[in-house]
Amino acid sequence: MNPNEMMSVEEALDCVLSHVAPLEVETVSLLDAVGRVVAEDLISDCDITPFDHAAMDGFAVRVADLANASEDSPVSLQVVGEVPAGSVFNGEIGFGEAVRIMTGAPVPDGADAVVKYEIVDYLGGDGRQGSAVSFSQPAAPFENIRAKGEEIAQGEVAIHAGEVVSAAGVGFLASCGVTTVPVHRRPRVAIIPIGSELLTPKEPFRPGCIRDSNSYAMAACVAQTGGIPAQLMIVPDKEECLARSIKLAAEDYDFIITTGGASNGDYDFIKPVVEDLGELYMTLVNMRPGKAQTFGMVDGTPVFGLPGNPAAAYCGFEVLIRQALRKMQGYSSVGRPLVKARLVGDRKKRDPRRIYLRASLSRNEEGVLCVVPAKNQSSGLFSTLHRANCLAILPEGTDQNPVPDGTLIDCLLLDVEEGTVL
Ligand code: AMP
Ligand code: MG
Repeated sequence: MNPNEMMSVEEALDCVLSHVAPLEVETVSLLDAVGRVVAEDLISDCDITPFDHAAMDGFAVRVADLANASEDSPVSLQVVGEVPAGSVFNGEIGFGEAVRIMTGAPVPDGADAVVKYEIVDYLGGDGRQGSAVSFSQPAAPFENIRAKGEEIAQGEVAIHAGEVVSAAGVGFLASCGVTTVPVHRRPRVAIIPIGSELLTPKEPFRPGCIRDSNSYAMAACVAQTGGIPAQLMIVPDKEECLARSIKLAAEDYDFIITTGGASNGDYDFIKPVVEDLGELYMTLVNMRPGKAQTFGMVDGTPVFGLPGNPAAAYCGFEVLIRQALRKMQGYSSVGRPLVKARLVGDRKKRDPRRIYLRASLSRNEEGVLCVVPAKNQSSGLFSTLHRANCLAILPEGTDQNPVPDGTLIDCLLLDVEEGTVL
């Protein structure tokens, strides 16, 4: 597609995703694997559980012995030993015998059920070795026994490549003897703020200058997406400075994000620089805020030029970059969840682009999801985004102007991870 043509959001996302791939595999410790995508199947080195064991404290018995036990004719068995967790009962339970057993202890040979203490009568003894105990009901085969290999057999795949390791998964892998996990490397992402007016937040103000806030927000977005952000030096609006910065960053980073200098002003250089140093794939996307979204490759490194206006940059990241950084980490490339909600109040739509409104989503008293767009939708603001929990989407076109109160519209949730079922 001609990079100077306007792309739909979907075309733009396809374009970006088609130029990134999962990064190489690195090995991390089990605890560091939580939340990461497993890159190779992980195999259990043992059966789980490794042996039949008691699921309750009680008495290990032979089911056949208790077949005729009832309230009227209880069966008594001789306690021939005790087996706490971590020990093994030497020998086999014979007919008429029981072994006192604790939760987690291996079930003695010969036994095929564990009867919990609570329904066993001690017949005046203490229920320990040498005493007799009585049962007034039969036991079912394997009652209160966790069977060897119940969860997984030795050599089976515990967690498959592509799965995300949860906290429970960390526990499962520990039980399977997996102490290190191959995962796709996190992308190192260079963030380059462009603009001769920009100051770091620590510098004193100079006339005509503003603070660079974008690179901070983008660094936070990258970190939240699992990437490793690096805020590089502010680059003034000079073509050769920008070219140098991008060329250097392309050597050391997996992905480059710039903000500012993205439109057609006299001092906007991201497009010519990417075109000059590499390949330019995209410059315009049918979205608002932020139609000036630039994407290309320099020396094999994807370069994304976001607009300078904070909300435009932020929306660009959410809609077009986040999924790419996730794909590089091996996540299956689904976007953040969308929900349908009722628009509160009429909303003018004179601009035919797809509009992303910063908005707050909540349920009304009837439990219906409602979305209230922030009053001020200026693309220069961060604070409205900070208070928003979604981007409410008004589709392309102006057939509906205004979009009436109560219309069901899609909302992109900003505070919910990909894959969450709502
Ligand atoms: P530009 O895309 O360079 O035309 O910038 C659009 C607007 O965003 C201008 O008002 C810039 O001053 C502002 N801007 C650009 N970069 C940043 C930044 N890093 N932090 C905050 N505002 C910025
Ligand atoms: Mg600028």
